[in-house]
Amino acid sequence: MLNQSLGEFSSERMPVLFIGHGSPMNAIATNAYTMALAKMGQELPRPRAILVISAHWMTDGTFITEMSRPKTIHDFYGFPRELYDIQYAAPGDPQIARMIRDSVDAPTIQPDLEVWGLDHGTWSVLRHLYPKADIPVLQLSLNMKQGSQWHFEMGEKLAPLREQGILIMGSGNLVHNLSTMRWTPNAKPYAWAIEFDDWLKTKLQDKDFTSLINKFHETESGRLSVPSMEHYFPLYYVLGASNHMDELTFEYEEIQNGSISMRSFSFR
Ligand code: ZN
Repeated sequence: MLNQSLGEFSSERMPVLFIGHGSPMNAIATNAYTMALAKMGQELPRPRAILVISAHWMTDGTFITEMSRPKTIHDFYGFPRELYDIQYAAPGDPQIARMIRDSVDAPTIQPDLEVWGLDHGTWSVLRHLYPKADIPVLQLSLNMKQGSQWHFEMGEKLAPLREQGILIMGSGNLVHNLSTMRWTPNAKPYAWAIEFDDWLKTKLQDKDFTSLINKFHETESGRLSVPSMEHYFPLYYVLGASNHMDELTFEYEEIQNGSISMRSFSFR
């Protein structure tokens, strides 16, 4: 049934993306990072819908946005007016949201009809990747009551959606330490940030998911890079939704503001 309704959309298996989003300012910047996203967007197949797991929707339980017109949420403080004026007017798709809920037996994914929408983890990236905002976008929340293995298994449960035209995107940052962030332009990265980012790169290349899930806090560099879980958890969904046939491509790498890794990659 689903394949029949794919219509104009590509029926090939969709890629899975992990995108580092960094400061909300990237939403309105033109830099090497935003240009890399724009280029990637031109190369990606056109999905039927985009399912985003953003660091910025933290809940007790698991929810999916099920409204037909998700609002643009400006979930940050003290930034220029220009950023608050942005609207990313992509539609939602309640029918696809229900299909996704039905496709996961346990845990129960609950519908969100009015609370959330699209937060900046989603739209600051998508306005560069898909600037026309003409593809339905849904967000899945992060259940902060759960641990690493649980989130990885959620990614595994979502994997079959790739065959149904759904592009799964995790949006976080693999090195994310706000308390040490430097705001000067071209700030020098901390040595520990470089060390941990390099470690991640190697583990991804080796497809050593066990280390990425269980060993990231074994070093001082890891503890400094992942002081809280919300920007790291989206990685697990991307790993879980990938499979052994996928080819890993590093789409972008840079450490912004000294302590924020913009490392972005795809499995396709
Ligand atoms: Zn963030």
